[in-house]
Amino acid sequence: MSETQKLDFSAVNDTTLASFNQHKNLIKRMLKGNSAECSECKKPLTLQLPPNTKNAKVSGKAPGIYCAKGCTDIELDMEAVALMK
Ligand SMILES: [Zn+2]
Repeated sequence: MSETQKLDFSAVNDTTLASFNQHKNLIKRMLKGNSAECSECKKPLTLQLPPNTKNAKVSGKAPGIYCAKGCTDIELDMEAVALMK
């Protein structure tokens, strides 16, 4: 393996981690009741909670954060969310 390949690999990992942290912060904010907007279309984001959650809205959607146009579609991992508290 060359040095270049190693560097590329770590760069990919950093990007994944950065986007993971961005999603985590967004989920945290929305769980606190704050509103957020899609970084693509600037429309308000919707937080969809699992059906067994107190304030969940009834819809066919899986738990996650969505925008009206669909450019934001973050699946909510409730195990990960539980660890955030
Ligand atoms: Zn959008």
